[in-house]
Amino acid sequence: MKLLDRFTFGVGDRFAHQAEAQLRAFQILADQGVDVVPVWNKSNREHSFIGSEPQSVYDAAKAAVESLGWDKRWHVDADHIGLPTVDRFLPCSDFFTIDVADSIGKPAPAADVSAFVQRHPELQGEISIAGVDVPLTISAEQLAATASQYLLACREAGEIYRYIAERKGGEQELAAEVSMDETDAPQTPPELLVILALLADEKIRVQTIAPKFTGRFNKGVDYVGDLQQFEKEFNDDLAVIQHSIASYGLPENLKVSVHSGSDKFSLYPIIRRSLQETGAGLHLKTAGTTWLEELIGLSEAGGDGLALAKEIYAYALKHVDEFCAPYASVIDIDREQLPAAEEVNDWSGQQLANAVRHIPDHVEFNASVRQLLHVSFKVAAKHGDHYLDMLKAHAEVVGKNVTENIYVRHMQPLFLG
Ligand SMILES: [Zn+2]
Repeated sequence: MKLLDRFTFGVGDRFAHQAEAQLRAFQILADQGVDVVPVWNKSNREHSFIGSEPQSVYDAAKAAVESLGWDKRWHVDADHIGLPTVDRFLPCSDFFTIDVADSIGKPAPAADVSAFVQRHPELQGEISIAGVDVPLTISAEQLAATASQYLLACREAGEIYRYIAERKGGEQELAAEVSMDETDAPQTPPELLVILALLADEKIRVQTIAPKFTGRFNKGVDYVGDLQQFEKEFNDDLAVIQHSIASYGLPENLKVSVHSGSDKFSLYPIIRRSLQETGAGLHLKTAGTTWLEELIGLSEAGGDGLALAKEIYAYALKHVDEFCAPYASVIDIDREQLPAAEEVNDWSGQQLANAVRHIPDHVEFNASVRQLLHVSFKVAAKHGDHYLDMLKAHAEVVGKNVTENIYVRHMQPLFLG
């Protein structure tokens, strides 16, 4: 397997113009003494909305790495892929997020479930885990139920993993993540333990695991949920991962992956504390936060940049139902808070930038506008070259916002405090 460093941070560059501005944030952080490896991620869904090819992500990343002289590691993540979608990602990705969420809950053959239960007596009863106050308790019934719920998903992960490894020329050519975040029910720490045993049985050299946490991870805005509960669950997950490495021979550097949906600011101090206390690693995935910085930069540029940003908002507002539908479970837009297009047309560039920029206590910040634009990147794709020309014409102000957002609002609270 391709060994991942302790800290990796996923960035999304939807239109393949911000890789350099993104990488600059990693450089500034490295200058502060914290090495975090950039991972450029883009899902099949994003590619199909935009009409782009996976190779473009690799090309943009490589150009940025060369132009800034980045001499540390970097990766390209085929995000949320499965067997039907992985092929075009193979030549240009070395990190694969194997998404098997859709197979969770598919009933597994009873004989396979009981074979698993028999193979793993250690998963029954009281299980003491270093770092968890109260031992986990898993009854025989619970173990069978959890195994049944996740067995086919994990088996599918194994199939995809072997498919990729074979075509990449061996396991050493890839870093594998297994993701189960895009589903309805969160996975509890005892369930995570069973899942890791199932993945180990499949001989997947999994290096990052993305569970679904409790609480809402809405796109582009802060976490909504019980912070104390998140802290306990997160710490228990870290402990379960360490336990599984020792018990099942999973890779030493196996770590949790947080699919943040971008900008979970209230979780960052909690995550930082946990990492400091445990020495654990982290993969944190963001994506759409950068595309919003493009709109902020274009707004601040004024003139034709601002005009395009306003046009994009007007179109998004008109198609609010269509754009929100695929993301219904991960956005909470208050329609009453969406200003009419005519109103926004009278705004200054600064005002539009302030409405979108994620500074939650800014008086002009508007979480509904931000979420709507977050899911409306299709509109920019529709503008094609015009949008890209604007990004090029206003590269400086856009890039400044992209770098600052990642460094100041994400990396500082996560890695520096
Ligand atoms: Zn995800």
